Amino acid sequence: MEGKSMKSESQPLNAILLTKIKEFTRDLLLNLSNGHSPIILLDRFRNHCILPDSNCFCSSNLPCGKQVLTLCKETHVHRLDVMLRVLLIVQKLLQENKHCSKRDIYYMHPSVFLDQSVVDRAINDICVLMQCSRHNLNVVSAGNGLVMGWIRFVEGKKVFDCISSPNTAHPIPVYVEEIKDIVNVADYILVVEKESVFQRLANDQFCNANRCIVISGRGYPDIPTRRFLRLLVENLHIPVYCLVDCDPYGFDILTTYKFGSMQMAYDTKHLRVPEISWLGAFPSDSEKYFVPKQCLLPLTAEDKRKIKAMLLRCYLQREVPQWRLELEMMLEKGVKFEIEALSVHALSFLTESYIPSKIHGQVNI
Ligand SMILES: [Zn+2]
Repeated sequence: MEGKSMKSESQPLNAILLTKIKEFTRDLLLNLSNGHSPIILLDRFRNHCILPDSNCFCSSNLPCGKQVLTLCKETHVHRLDVMLRVLLIVQKLLQENKHCSKRDIYYMHPSVFLDQSVVDRAINDICVLMQCSRHNLNVVSAGNGLVMGWIRFVEGKKVFDCISSPNTAHPIPVYVEEIKDIVNVADYILVVEKESVFQRLANDQFCNANRCIVISGRGYPDIPTRRFLRLLVENLHIPVYCLVDCDPYGFDILTTYKFGSMQMAYDTKHLRVPEISWLGAFPSDSEKYFVPKQCLLPLTAEDKRKIKAMLLRCYLQREVPQWRLELEMMLEKGVKFEIEALSVHALSFLTESYIPSKIHGQVNI
């Protein structure tokens, strides 16, 4: 049984960020009024590199160099313009203790921002500059993730009582920092890539026979899903397994859970879940579980390109060489398959045989 509230931390951080924003803009103005062109140094972060000798610092959370923004460069002028506009919005959010989404911010100046990705980059720049996470800026995304199983918790004043009906999907809360009073009676956490697999488990009443918590990020997991998973792993100290399609996208999603993403590399230490084990589907599963040939799809040229690029990631060689071997095998076999292909034997094969046998037989890497 665990209970934890993190809300008390948010108030002073609010004040610290407001001071940092004030100091940053004041320095900028001072420089400009003195006739100097301001220089802004942004730490660069990466969650992996492609150095073959693996002698890098990608897993250390340390920045790797700095990016210099100046008003002498046309592209930087626009980037700074966007950053300052977003900073102003963030300042208001923090002052009024309100929240909004990246999309809301985009629609405040669509003719200046031109594209959502420009706003996303500005938010990332501000997080790097202020040394904080995105939710600290009161910028949140509408949660996309789902949870069910043997857990109960409170978010703010809302009770998520999954235990009373463990095979019913609940949305993963957006304000992860407000989660408290976690009651857990599960033995492990199962993360599934796709909603269709999550629904299969729900329909098969998977959680009746298995004391677990099931989570799905419905494809590439969003920030709340990854923070929620991270919170559970940190607090509950139970094993966590990941089930993805046997294709390059499934593998990339698996690595996003375990190692974080390049885009959010500055915040990897708060988002990655190094404890996660890969439960399947392995390329070697197609033979082991007799997946018929007609269920195996040939890899496209794009799939092959993606696999070759992923094989170069430094963390695979350094931290999970067995994952890398399976990925190499995918490329050698030249085929991919979906989790659902395992249902070719029986609709309940996944829930009654495949997952339990892998978990109880410790067939995960
Ligand atoms: Zn590296």
